[in-house]
Amino acid sequence: MTVSVVRFDSSLDSIGRAIELCGGFDKLDRSHRVLIKPNITFSGWMPIPPYGMVTTSKVIEGILRQLSDHGCKDVTIGEGTVAEVLGSNTRRGFKYTGIDRVAKRYGAKLIDLNDGPFERRELGTAKVGVSKAVLDADFLINVPVLKTHPQVKVSLGFKNLKGCLDTPSRKRFHHKGLDHSICLLNQLLKCDLTIIDGIYMLEKGADTLMGTAHRKDLIIASRDTFACDCVGATILGIEPSQVGYLKEYAELHSRPLDISTVQVTGEDVESLKEKLDWESVAEDELLNFGITGLAVPHPGHTLCSGCYGSLICALGIFAKANPNRDFSGTQICWGRNRANGAPGGRIILYGDCGISSNRNEEPAAKIAGCPPPMMSTLLTLMKTLLSRPKMISTLLLGSPQLLALRVGLYSGNLQKWQRYRSPEFDKSHF
Ligand code: SF4
Repeated sequence: MTVSVVRFDSSLDSIGRAIELCGGFDKLDRSHRVLIKPNITFSGWMPIPPYGMVTTSKVIEGILRQLSDHGCKDVTIGEGTVAEVLGSNTRRGFKYTGIDRVAKRYGAKLIDLNDGPFERRELGTAKVGVSKAVLDADFLINVPVLKTHPQVKVSLGFKNLKGCLDTPSRKRFHHKGLDHSICLLNQLLKCDLTIIDGIYMLEKGADTLMGTAHRKDLIIASRDTFACDCVGATILGIEPSQVGYLKEYAELHSRPLDISTVQVTGEDVESLKEKLDWESVAEDELLNFGITGLAVPHPGHTLCSGCYGSLICALGIFAKANPNRDFSGTQICWGRNRANGAPGGRIILYGDCGISSNRNEEPAAKIAGCPPPMMSTLLTLMKTLLSRPKMISTLLLGSPQLLALRVGLYSGNLQKWQRYRSPEFDKSHF
């Protein structure tokens, strides 16, 4: 199966060329019910830069134009963002990416996959709820972003399908083995076409809270999601054999992981290879604010995006309001991590998983929830880590800002986001 790698030249034609070069519409009939699945991780009230994190409306528009030229009339765009974290919901996500605007222009329907209905399907030893809209589609187009991921190294076509599940099933993935579950999911759901949106790529993904976006100007497409992901991973600088779910899938289906066996048309992959980091370290981010001594060891695959988004966002706001402080001996345990701090140190147990995995610990604080809300996370961090006078002054000075952030009057800009003011980061792509 062919993988096309095409330079994005700012025109919609480049998306059409990528589809054409890989024979993307060869099996598409104009009477088909088409479902496009973008990647809109989350989209709450905090204006997080979208570059490399969510699918651009530019690429979606290019696909919609091709579908319209092909004569397709029944086109739906379906996504289910991480729900409720920082007020995230899918409708907001369609607006945040500009996908609502292009959908209207081309007469495509928008659906929130989180609303269901879902059908129960076997996935290994577990049962998962899969969106009926996805199962019912005649032609499924998967549109992930070219990005790294702090747990599974890359988040491309295979990983993007996780958004087709109901929320409890997604959470269960983290406890059943993320790589294994993603591999199984891609045996259950088959995409007819995968188009990786590489206008931007993301290092230390999967979001711009921790990750850093770069301009890449690429579109990678194939009718074969596995081959498409192998090429995408290679361009990010990560060997497909190092990606757990690709390796497992290759073994199960006797597929080579070496992309020299893939027929690539368009650009030369070798010359496009990057060397991006995929691991993100919360302590490094805190250090940018001069915060030391606060350990937040990553719990690996057991952490869901909900806890991740809530805690990272709260830590970012906390650190910005309290720079250059030392919290030596303090450890935050999240996911299924077991506490391993220094004797006598302070332990903060985060989320229901963090609490249940450390029943015997004497924590300084427990922040319950699945996931815990961001605001209560922030308040508990202040209560636990700051003296009473400092906490009161932070609250008095910070509350108006937080309120303004909440209602969209203040951007909450982090220093690291200044880079997105450069012209290479083009707002009109969203
Ligand atoms: S507590 Fe957090 S990590 Fe555990 S299942 Fe809930 S969201 Fe996932």
